[in-house]
Amino acid sequence: MESFQHIETDLFIIGSGMAGMSAAIFAANRNIKSVLSGGAGGLEHSSGLLDLWGASLTQKGRVTKKPWDMLPKIYEHMPDHPYANLKKNTLSKAFLELTTSLKTQGLTYTGYDALNSMVMTPFGTLHPTYRLPITMKSNVEAFKKKEPCLILDFKGLREFSAVFFKEVMKKDWPGISTQCLEFPDTQLRPEVSTPFLARSFETRQVQEKFISLVKPFLKGKTYLGLPAILGVNACDKVLTALEKELNINIFEIPTPPVSVPGIRLKETMMKALEGSSVTILQNKRVTKVLKASNKGFECELGSNIFPAIVHAKAVLIATGRFLGRGLYADQKKIHESIFDLPVCQPKTREEWHMPDFFNLNGHRINQAGIETDDLFRPVMNNKKPVFNNLFASGSILAHQDWVRSKCGAGLSIGTSFHTITNFLKYKTR
Ligand SMILES: Cc1cc2nc3c(=O)[nH]c(=O)nc-3n(C[C@H](O)[C@H](O)[C@H](O)COP(=O)(O)OP(=O)(O)OC[C@H]3O[C@@H](n4cnc5c(N)ncnc54)[C@H](O)[C@@H]3O)c2cc1C
Repeated sequence: MESFQHIETDLFIIGSGMAGMSAAIFAANRNIKSVLSGGAGGLEHSSGLLDLWGASLTQKGRVTKKPWDMLPKIYEHMPDHPYANLKKNTLSKAFLELTTSLKTQGLTYTGYDALNSMVMTPFGTLHPTYRLPITMKSNVEAFKKKEPCLILDFKGLREFSAVFFKEVMKKDWPGISTQCLEFPDTQLRPEVSTPFLARSFETRQVQEKFISLVKPFLKGKTYLGLPAILGVNACDKVLTALEKELNINIFEIPTPPVSVPGIRLKETMMKALEGSSVTILQNKRVTKVLKASNKGFECELGSNIFPAIVHAKAVLIATGRFLGRGLYADQKKIHESIFDLPVCQPKTREEWHMPDFFNLNGHRINQAGIETDDLFRPVMNNKKPVFNNLFASGSILAHQDWVRSKCGAGLSIGTSFHTITNFLKYKTR
């Protein structure tokens, strides 16, 4: 017979993507007794950039460098968007608190106060983002200055091609040259991956070998660019050491999933929660809701091996969309997977997608999700909260298309911050 571990808590955060992890950090900073559960989501795949808002709302299909200028337009023209419920001050406090917690753990983020930074991607495009890892700071500067730059890639690495990058960029930036090197101690490996290279880069021995390998190619160069592999747990230190010894500005270029900057974010957030008021049940999923009422919840988690029941006074669902499995669809409808909450969605399946894949207005399925009140509590069709003590944050929320708006992290961070501060108000009522 299964014996369940019983865990009592004030707040149960379900989901450990960007929304759940940042909610857990905000809860820990306020000493809220919480439990966090969840498995892999979008975070490990993300580029590690923290976008606030990157799409122009005045010129369709264009990007904006002024994310804060878009907020009043969102309030006016997109009143159902989750951002319409957030003041500028709330969003900026949320970004500041999260990046301060990351910095304390050795992962520094940077960026302008009022503007987006344009980060070069592996495809030779520019991505507007609000906060970027310090290891990508010179990525933005280098493109602005267009001084001589060496771009590196490595034998056996599929995720990044320096030659492809140069081919796309060379029209705007003729001073780019490329070099393919054999990464230290990988001669016996036909293939290497960015997470493997990043973890190797944390050893002093590999750093020293890399320095002597790359030095002969740096004459006359101002910048050295390479795929994002400058360590997982100590990237600030690896960057500083290499820049000092090679006497050059070094920058990372984000790579496609699985992405080292995404893994860094997840691992650093986990570290920030160590010894805090948050208990982590890593890779455990909620499989059944046993009780749900305005007084509290009982949720069953995990496999037959270590099953647990969490008894919580309140729940925050941060379970994401289809990738995270917070939402799923059958032939007719989209459903919410834990509480079977009402999902705001088009009336019929035929309306999910536009006939034109590249339609500038996007596809309606991407705006489907959970509708909430202004405390981010899921509501029923009559707009009343389903439960007074059930909250939702992140990409599961309705009326937003974070991919198109380029607001993935901002949506998760801002709505989680608002939810945690509201939870405190709710708790003290
Ligand atoms: C490829 C890719 C690139 C990205 N690049 C960027 C970028 O450049 N800039 C940016 O700002 N954002 C980016 N993002 C977006 C960002 O990382 C987040 O995915 C987004 O903010 C949504 O986060 P979320 O936490 O709402 O959902 P998810 O990341 O999907 O997380 C959902 C979580 O809920 C858990 N879960 C689901 N069901 C259960 C259950 N029953 N029990 C317990 N746990 C459950 C999942 O395991 C997961 O941990 C990118 C995302 C992807 C996928």
